[in-house]
Amino acid sequence: METRITRLLDWSARDKAWLLAVITVPLHLFYAGWVWVSLNYTDFGARFLDPTVAGQGLAYALLAALYWALVAAWGSALRYLQRDSMLLVNTVIFSYGISQLPLAFLVGMAEPMTGVILLGASITGFVLFSFWRVLAAFFISLFVLMLLSLLTVEGVLPYAPVMLEDPISRDYVSPYYVTSQFMLGVPFVTFAFVICYMLLSRWKRREAQAQRLAVTDPLTGVANRRAFLDTLEREYARAQRDQSSMAVVMLDLDHFKNTNDSHGHAAGDAVLCHAAAVLGGVVREVDSVGRLGGEEFAILLPGATASEAMDVAERCRAALCRAPVMHEGAPVDVTASLGVCGLPANTVQRASRFLELADQALYAAKDGGRNRVVCYQDSP
Ligand code: GH3
Ligand code: MG
Ligand code: MG
Repeated sequence: METRITRLLDWSARDKAWLLAVITVPLHLFYAGWVWVSLNYTDFGARFLDPTVAGQGLAYALLAALYWALVAAWGSALRYLQRDSMLLVNTVIFSYGISQLPLAFLVGMAEPMTGVILLGASITGFVLFSFWRVLAAFFISLFVLMLLSLLTVEGVLPYAPVMLEDPISRDYVSPYYVTSQFMLGVPFVTFAFVICYMLLSRWKRREAQAQRLAVTDPLTGVANRRAFLDTLEREYARAQRDQSSMAVVMLDLDHFKNTNDSHGHAAGDAVLCHAAAVLGGVVREVDSVGRLGGEEFAILLPGATASEAMDVAERCRAALCRAPVMHEGAPVDVTASLGVCGLPANTVQRASRFLELADQALYAAKDGGRNRVVCYQDSP
């Protein structure tokens, strides 16, 4: 499994758990550093923080950092040994939110930070890990939070024990405290956002890929039958509106069964790819090439008259038989028969009729000896 960071969502659960543990270490060190700076270098610390409780909070943050460092080391060892472990994944999922709760308790459970952490942790979890386990972890954290709140309301536990007085009140708002809230919340939310962004961009990439696969012939890369017929319908409607003409060329490789029989199926496939590339090289930007099935291709030429389409078809025929296709060092001869139908769109009842008429002309080309172009009007 590739472990490039841009492929994070495709990592194994073990590797994602490891990464989360690695990232959580500096997060807790950051908390610890912030408390330490507040205590020692700010007026805020002297006025608002209870030094004993803040010291305990700092010790807790360091302890939590140590805990996550050990989990990260455990993950590194598993990665090194190439062993999977559900225990590691579950440990990370269930301790990620809970390890932050004591800090939430110290600064006050009704603070915005607590909400941010609860939301950020669950979003991160839902994107990275299996839904139900993260939901369970979320409810456990929520339950602990509610229990702490209840004990606080009942007076068993103090509210925001680290605070000597409320740093945000009607009379006074501490800029330091407000900044702290942002500083501590931003890294957390950023990580959640990055992960959501990865999820969305992967979803868009898959969407585009599925879209492309739905309209492409997997062997030759040209439009598949469905896509070609869609284009045909669209261009027919437009040509009717504009009262213009359009043309369809049908192409069928000659004696292709023999090609397969004498050179093998792989050589046949190579010839099909070659034919698609040749057609793509001959037609204009506005024209479409499609593989209708087997060794049958069609070209749609919007705005083209019968004689213009005949020119294109003749160029395709000549280009195909000009040189044999080399497959594994052996030359494989290719020729094709082509049928052309070019008419003013409003003289044709429906789009698919263009295909039928071009197919009739194609039959005439086969009957006439193959490796040739026949136009619908020319055929008897
Ligand atoms: P004709 O000149 O009358 O068109 O003869 P033909 O042999 O080309 O026509 P036929 O319909 O008898 O044979 C078509 C062959 O195309 C049979 C089939 O095995 C082969 N074919 C269809 N799809 C593929 C493909 O995807 N790859 C390969 N290698 N062969 C294919
Ligand atoms: Mg055929
Ligand atoms: Mg054929």
